[in-house]
Amino acid sequence: MILQILFYSISEKEVGGNAKSGANEISAFPWGAHYVPIPNNDLTAYIDFLDECGIIKSRGENNLPEYKEEYLCFDPEERLFINGRWQDGLVPHFGLPAKDIAQIDTFLKQMNVYRYTTGADGKDAFAIPVNASSTDTVFTTLDNITMKQWMLNNHYESNYLHNYVNYCTKDDFGTPHDKISAWAGIHYFAARKGKAVNATYSDVITWPEGNGFLVNQLKKICKAQTKTNCLATKIIAQQDKVIVECFDAANKKYFAVEADQCIVAAPQFVAGRLLNNNERMAAVKNNFNYAPWMVANIKVNELKQKEGAPLSWDNVIYDSTSLGYIDATHQQLQLYKTKRNLTYYMPLCATDAVTERQQAQQKKHEDWVDVIFRDLEKIHEDIEEKTEEINVMVWGHAMIQPLPGFITGEARKEMARSINDNIHFAHTDIAGISIFEEAFYQGLNAAKKIMAKQI
Ligand SMILES: Cc1cc2nc3c(=O)[nH]c(=O)nc-3n(C[C@H](O)[C@H](O)[C@H](O)COP(=O)(O)OP(=O)(O)OC[C@H]3O[C@@H](n4cnc5c(N)ncnc54)[C@H](O)[C@@H]3O)c2cc1C
Repeated sequence: MILQILFYSISEKEVGGNAKSGANEISAFPWGAHYVPIPNNDLTAYIDFLDECGIIKSRGENNLPEYKEEYLCFDPEERLFINGRWQDGLVPHFGLPAKDIAQIDTFLKQMNVYRYTTGADGKDAFAIPVNASSTDTVFTTLDNITMKQWMLNNHYESNYLHNYVNYCTKDDFGTPHDKISAWAGIHYFAARKGKAVNATYSDVITWPEGNGFLVNQLKKICKAQTKTNCLATKIIAQQDKVIVECFDAANKKYFAVEADQCIVAAPQFVAGRLLNNNERMAAVKNNFNYAPWMVANIKVNELKQKEGAPLSWDNVIYDSTSLGYIDATHQQLQLYKTKRNLTYYMPLCATDAVTERQQAQQKKHEDWVDVIFRDLEKIHEDIEEKTEEINVMVWGHAMIQPLPGFITGEARKEMARSINDNIHFAHTDIAGISIFEEAFYQGLNAAKKIMAKQI
């Protein structure tokens, strides 16, 4: 069924938001989101969507998906530069004292127990979407403290372990582990439990363009209704209809759309302004925090490698302010490559988000290039010489930060509530964590509300 009442508008030149991608003569590359993990098996609508996107080869016993090998991340998948050498995998082990290795092992075992724990309500303690998780207070009280505090309360004191967990929370939430809620921190480790014929929850599905691949599949379905370069400036709620005022930036014209139903898939700090609702804007300002990020795409000639594990898809430097880089050419089939696109990720979280945004705004291209080179020369001494081009993207409000109290708090639920039964919200910020699956289910749930009205 085509829902003509839906209104698609994108303020930028391209669709995709945080999952948009670019390309040059070497390969496509992501500008933000770059992979999805093997989905949990109860996410049947999402798995069907991946099937429609041509990612699933067949279904095995119990309908288990078999993912196409070309979309599962090839080996070698991850490496970490630590104690002067590249080690295989991101969990620190090279050069670590035995007591740290033991503590990391205990921590990961505890996370695995959480993976399969259910609450008194029978629901998974940590589920995807977040709203499907148990509301048992045994788990929800974890939202009252930070991940770091929870680790210390549980006698996890290894610096190596803290460093690893901090890397993980920065990776998924753009936020250090001393700021993130313990519930969200544990969710990172325990929410994924997917199984497939040829993969498990620790495997990832990826493409040179990252999640831009999924964006392009979605784009095909709604090409005719999509307007890019077009900014919604006001949403006027009426009892039986919605007026959306827009600015067509390409043609410098204002126009209005009258709709029966409207889904606002923009973040809440935008939604509050569009609705011109002071109370809503204040609630967002007081409760919603967004992490800024810098992403760079770096075109390089073959780089000198330090000793240890070979160049991988994900290449991380221990104790760096960055998250390292993804080799966007990793999924290409040819083995010998003279040039690559490296996608470099840096959550801007050394201080608070507002200060970071202000500092980022003042930085010029050459300042970012300097930051990147100083970081990457630790692992590639010839990075400056071998770089042909660097393009930088700063995401001011890249992703929602699940700080303590946000996941279980009222503000998130309040902002998610539809207005007048005809304005619905569908951004990952009301999920509390920013991952593709949450975006998918936010959209699906909003669409279901509208379809239910049509029957
Ligand atoms: C650097 C980075 C890396 C990430 N990596 C991953 C990853 O590997 N895997 C993963 O699952 N997730 C990742 N994410 C999370 C990613 O944000 C989500 O997966 C998902 O793409 C978010 O989708 P969304 O629809 O909620 O929001 P957004 O992507 O924020 O989309 C919001 C859209 O609203 C539009 N908009 C805003 N205001 C207006 C207006 N006034 N009028 C019209 N349109 C408007 C914007 O142009 C944008 O297109 C990453 C995020 C970032 C920033």
